[in-house]
Amino acid sequence: MNYVFNPAPTVSVAVLGTALRFPVHRIYCVGRNYEDHAKEMGFSGREPPFFFMKPADAVVAVNAGECGTMPYPSLTTNLHHEIELVVAIGSGGKNIKAADAHKHIFGYAVGLDMTRRDLQNEMKKQGRPWCIGKGFDHAAPIGPITPASAAGEIGNAEISLQVNGQHRQRSNVSKLIWNIAETIEHLSAAWELQPGDLIYTGTPEGVAAVVTGDTMLGSVTGLESIKVTIG
Ligand code: MN
Repeated sequence: MNYVFNPAPTVSVAVLGTALRFPVHRIYCVGRNYEDHAKEMGFSGREPPFFFMKPADAVVAVNAGECGTMPYPSLTTNLHHEIELVVAIGSGGKNIKAADAHKHIFGYAVGLDMTRRDLQNEMKKQGRPWCIGKGFDHAAPIGPITPASAAGEIGNAEISLQVNGQHRQRSNVSKLIWNIAETIEHLSAAWELQPGDLIYTGTPEGVAAVVTGDTMLGSVTGLESIKVTIG
């Protein structure tokens, strides 16, 4: 087939233990999925899960052992880090039941749902879409994907973020309000999941600002960590 210009290259993420890469289809994100983060954002209680998206080409794929770079984005003076466990979908489907969700998971990675908080808050106040606060260029750094079979007991993993060596966020995946299987059930009722979809499952408490020159180190027990400098 001939195109009027060259199509954009396929966005992909490294997979531990292989030279093959994981091609990214869509990026789904879960909002307010840890209770103490919901509280710090001014909400409380268990509400039905809600979702937003980032464009696939917002991915900043960081390979094992490397330090990625994310440029400080335009229009903001309050760029926030959100450390998140990312689920990588290997086989698609719609109306997937929580009990079957594990069959659709290829693996897991550590991701950062980077947020222009000032713009997001302004959009919230006005009842407008979050895109400008969440879906900007380079807004989705992600480390290598660990295949599910090698990831250990991910539902009980420690999740943490350091900035310049200081702990900012520290929690446990067991504190997810909607766990991984329940999230896949809800998400696949709204969209047909496809191989290559990434699900950022939400961030625990402790979100805060980073500035140019800061280095973030994100970790989830059992997974390759991610290191990103704001440059
Ligand atoms: Mn988030």
